[in-house]
Order: sequence, then C-alpha cells, then structure tokens
Amino acid sequence: MKPPKFDYVAPRSIDEALSILAQHGEQAKVLAGGQSLVPLLNFRLVRPGYLVDLNGVAGLDGIRVDDGRLAIGAMTRQRAVEVSALVRERCPLLAEAMPQIGHVQIRNRGTIGGSLAHADPAGELPAVVAALDGELVLRSVRGDRVLKPAQFFVAYLTTAAAPDELLVEARVPVTPPRTGSAFLEVSRRHGDFALVGVAATVTVDDAGVCTACAIALTGVGPIPVVPREAARALVGVTPTPAAFEDLGRRVAEGVEPDGDLHASSEYRKHLAGVLVRRALGQCAERIAGRVATGERR
Ligand SMILES: Cc1cc2nc3c(=O)[nH]c(=O)nc-3n(C[C@H](O)[C@H](O)[C@H](O)COP(=O)(O)OP(=O)(O)OC[C@H]3O[C@@H](n4cnc5c(N)ncnc54)[C@H](O)[C@@H]3O)c2cc1C
Repeated sequence: MKPPKFDYVAPRSIDEALSILAQHGEQAKVLAGGQSLVPLLNFRLVRPGYLVDLNGVAGLDGIRVDDGRLAIGAMTRQRAVEVSALVRERCPLLAEAMPQIGHVQIRNRGTIGGSLAHADPAGELPAVVAALDGELVLRSVRGDRVLKPAQFFVAYLTTAAAPDELLVEARVPVTPPRTGSAFLEVSRRHGDFALVGVAATVTVDDAGVCTACAIALTGVGPIPVVPREAARALVGVTPTPAAFEDLGRRVAEGVEPDGDLHASSEYRKHLAGVLVRRALGQCAERIAGRVATGERR
C-alpha cells in the first residue's frame, strides 16, 4: 500500500521543528530514520497530516561524554553508535547491543531517538537505557523535561512524550570501574527482533563483592522489564554461578510475558531465566578479564 496524503515539512533547526510541532501537535509525526514509521505509513496504521522530517535539522546528532554520562543526540544513526570507539570504551553494554538491532542497512538509517521514541517492547535500546537507568531529554516550545526510563516508557509503542515534544537526547551513565556488562538475546533468525533479550551489568569492589547489579529485559512485557528486587539480591555477595542461577530463576518466575505466534509465554519465561543466568556469567567473566589484565577505566 501507499501512504495516505500528508504535507511534508523539512525544518532546518530544532526551534523551527518545535514551532511546527507546537502548531500541529496531534496532526504531526516526526520522521527520523523512517525504519519503523514508513512501514506504519504504508500500512496506513498512522495517518499524519504533517510529516516533519528531522533529517535536515542541525544539532540533533553526536556522541559526547558530559559530567560522567554518555550523551547521544536523538538523530545519531544506530550504526554511528555501533562503531563509536567512545561508546565501546565508556559504555560497552550499549556497544554490544547495537549490532543486534536488525541488519546493518537498518542501522545505517535508524536513529537512537527513533528507536527509543518508537518504544518497541522487543527493541534493544529501551532495555539498555532501562538497565542503565539513563535519561531521556524531551524538548518543546515550553522547555525541556528529563525523564527516567520508568517515566518515559508507558505502554506498548507508547511513551510519555507529548505530541509537541521532540526527544533530543538520550543519556546513560559512563560504566564505572570493575564493572562487567552483557547484552544477550535469542531471535528466530539473525536480524529478527528478539524473542527475549537481557541487558545486565555487575559491579564489584576490590574484594570482589558485588556492589551493584542491574538487569532489564526486552520481549517479556509491553515496556522494558526491570527486575530491581531480584537484582538487589546479588548486592553484598560474591557473585557465583549458583547465585546467577538463582537470580535467573527468580527473574523467570517474576515475568508474565504474552505468547504469540513467535513464542509461547512459557518459552519466553524460560528464555528470560536462561539469558539472565548467562548474561550475569558473562559480566563476571568480563570483570575477571579486566582485573587480570589490570585494565581500568
Ligand atoms: C526489517 C527490520 C528489522 C528491525 N529489527 C529491529 C531490531 O531487531 N531491534 C530494534 O530495536 N529495532 C529493529 N528495527 C527498527 C529500527 O531499529 C528502527 O530504526 C527504529 O525502531 C526506529 O528508528 P527510526 O530512526 O527509523 O525512526 P522512525 O521510523 O523515523 O520513527 C519511529 C517513531 O519514532 C518517532 N520519532 C522518531 N524520532 C523522534 C524524536 N527525535 N522525537 C520524538 N519522536 C520521534 C516517529 O515519529 C515515529 O513515531 C527493525 C526495522 C526493520 C525495518
């Protein structure tokens, strides 16, 4: 099918884009990489009066470290994040998740902001930002709002962004020393959306005792699922395979995924437990590797 008729506008600045959104709010849709929006238009699942193309807007892309956080402009292409040495060095969890998004052709066009704003419950980026308890910066003519992932992701394909707000930046904390991270997922074919994915980080002190553990899952709920209570059980203990097994079991017991034609609810639950156990194991191995080689950030 072809998209329904719409007016196309191509602002050159953030202010221009915001004033168009302020004027047309509910009737407008912003176009980033188009990897999710164009199929939705073609299937006529969305029918905007105005398509506001962000691709010519200056100042919406780029990756920088600012005050202990990695800040990524909304229009930064997924591929640019994937190949960024700064991201690999400062936030290896994000670097590891990137190549698991679709195919390279999709990541060449798809943007960080588009993926987060689209809020697909099987997407990798929402889970990474949720695990790292990052920040989403929304802007409108009324000013800026900074939301935590728990505030931003509201429901299936739904965020707290108002129709006149642009997501301008995503921020995640720089990974602290003695931290291991891992992103693991299972999908039916290479490049498919994950059936279940797990983002995990473990931080230990000099004695090897866990001081922080964060987990977020994709594919087991309408928004990223963050099993905070279960993850807290690892804090204060020396991480062991038995502890990871136990945590995986607790996480699996705590999720209630829907089944669909790709996987049953039971299978997704099973995957959640297995992937949490494996991801935490990888975190521990990575900490051990760093400590052994004396690598510190
Ligand atoms: C074959 C295929 C496989 C894919 N596989 C995966 C996968 O495995 N994992 C995964 O996570 N994704 C996958 N995707 C989706 C891909 O990552 C998209 O790039 C992403 O979902 C949307 O990003 P985009 O930049 O293309 O946004 P668009 O498609 O342009 O926009 C998506 C939505 O976000 C809104 N939006 C975009 N930018 C902003 C902004 N700055 N502020 C406010 N709203 C905004 C748009 O209005 C629209 O509603 C796949 C896509 C395809 C086509």
